[in-house]
Amino acid sequence: MDIIVIGSGPTGLLTGAALAQRGHRVVSVDRDPGPAADGSWARRGVMQFEHAHGFRPQVGDVLAKRWPAGLEAWLEAGADPVEITLPDGTTVPIGHRSLRSTFERGLRAAALRTPGLELRAGHVDVLLTTDDQVADDQVTGIVIDGEPMRADLVVDASGRSGRPDRCAPDPTLIGSCGMAYVDRVYRLHPDAEPGPLDGPVAAVNDYDGYQILVFLHHAGYFSVLIVEPLADHELKVLRHRPAFEAACRAIPTLAAWTDPERAEPVTGVLVGGALRNTYRPQRLLRGLVTVGDAVATTTPTRGRGLALAYTQVDALLELLDDGSPDARAVAEPFDAWCDTWIRPWVDDHLAVDDELVERWQGADLDLTRPLTSNSICTAAQVDPRIDEIAGPFYLMTALPACLEPAEPLARAAYDSGWRPPYAAGPGRDDLVEMLAAVAV
Ligand SMILES: Cc1cc2nc3c(=O)[nH]c(=O)nc-3n(C[C@H](O)[C@H](O)[C@H](O)COP(=O)(O)OP(=O)(O)OC[C@H]3O[C@@H](n4cnc5c(N)ncnc54)[C@H](O)[C@@H]3O)c2cc1C
Repeated sequence: MDIIVIGSGPTGLLTGAALAQRGHRVVSVDRDPGPAADGSWARRGVMQFEHAHGFRPQVGDVLAKRWPAGLEAWLEAGADPVEITLPDGTTVPIGHRSLRSTFERGLRAAALRTPGLELRAGHVDVLLTTDDQVADDQVTGIVIDGEPMRADLVVDASGRSGRPDRCAPDPTLIGSCGMAYVDRVYRLHPDAEPGPLDGPVAAVNDYDGYQILVFLHHAGYFSVLIVEPLADHELKVLRHRPAFEAACRAIPTLAAWTDPERAEPVTGVLVGGALRNTYRPQRLLRGLVTVGDAVATTTPTRGRGLALAYTQVDALLELLDDGSPDARAVAEPFDAWCDTWIRPWVDDHLAVDDELVERWQGADLDLTRPLTSNSICTAAQVDPRIDEIAGPFYLMTALPACLEPAEPLARAAYDSGWRPPYAAGPGRDDLVEMLAAVAV
């Protein structure tokens, strides 16, 4: 088949390479022409390129299964596989440490070497349908920079902000996460030890009014994030370097990590764009299928985006390999699959994010509502049986519904009056007061 993939991001490259390996002629079109001759890469329209990323095991697993050369190139670029040792002595892979830019550079290098896959620069304006009008029932190609290009199958992997199809369906789920964040990438000095972590990859601390995270990447790179309610205008000052640095000095975990004796910044302060949880069903047109962030986006606080995108690609390839129905009608069974396996994660994020922001803004937990996955898992601090139930949820090998048996245990903890403590350090009001004295 002749296949066009719209978007050469992580989803488009994996899908394009895997389809090319099956003998199809694949063109992956992206409005981004790739790195400049000096190696710099502006990656306009993909603001997350420079932002902190955690890589769950699904990313490496699907690459290993569907595109081993992609995984190899990512490892060559510097990705660092992470394992944990369980109490019984067995080791379990829990993902990779990497910068997002390292991930994309590795995949792109492998894609350029993949026979049958062509990377083309250009903006996809609109889909072509049988009579070259949008909104007919059969897609026959795309219009790229004003020129038509035909294909048997068009795969839309255009991400959260791509709109190649003016008739894209309204999302059935959508919500602003109510959070904003700023982050900055640092690098440890040679031989410097990493700062405090809650596990092998990250540190997460909740404060009264905001949250901080540290992600350890590869080669000593790490990202520092401060997440606050979108509505908190006074904390917006954190986007200015002097305020961000003052906050880092005042918050114990960040002070340890960003100590100039330990590390130095390698970027300015990066401001996260609008973050939404979104679920878009397929358009159910023959010859068109949508995959990756173009189907579902989740807020980055749980680092689930790429795991959701890559499990989608895996499922889509399974359906295409199965051959029933024919490839041009694959959107229908894929829609059903996404509805079962992807949509519940977006539902989960909508509930968790709302509740987290309410908590940061001082509200007590509303026990008249069902507990969210976050409230259930947080209660493991007082009832460790919850962790035993929640293991598959943490690893995303089971849907959030697997937490149902843990809900009564968590509810009992909250009914007793227990609430999760805040980390030691300045609350939001202390931070605002301190930042008011910083000249930006
Ligand atoms: C701030 C932030 C932090 C994140 N942190 C994490 C994390 O820690 N862990 C994690 O797993 N996930 C994280 N995610 C999610 C993750 O980045 C996405 O899931 C991932 O980028 C999805 O890849 P994609 O290829 O589907 O989309 P994208 O990466 O958005 O790629 C889409 C591509 O399509 C191209 N395109 C769009 N429209 C057109 C057009 N009309 N014509 C031509 N080309 C077009 C774009 O240029 C782009 O290259 C984060 C997201 C954000 C926003």
